[in-house]
Amino acid sequence: MTDLNKSTRRQFLKVGGAALVALPIIGMSGTALAAQNASVRTALQYQTTPKDGKQCSTCQNFQAATNGCTLFPGDTEIVPTGYCSAYLLKK
Ligand code: SF4
Repeated sequence: MTDLNKSTRRQFLKVGGAALVALPIIGMSGTALAAQNASVRTALQYQTTPKDGKQCSTCQNFQAATNGCTLFPGDTEIVPTGYCSAYLLKK
């Protein structure tokens, strides 16, 4: 086997390995990722109701188009009326 073939084979295995790791993540729905973020939700004391007039829809981290939050990657179940301790008022 030539050095070029070894290098190409090595690159193929690296890319293939990375793809195998990424596939389960890509295939997950927002619901599954939401479940994955349960520990983050708990850590940030996420709740689905506002607190002291503060809610996700007025937070800088809220992504309204996807019902997401920059702190909960892939999670699409952050409700506009929700709240967590990382709340940051939109400017
Ligand atoms: S940081 Fe907290 S309050 Fe702000 S959008 Fe995300 S979950 Fe809602």
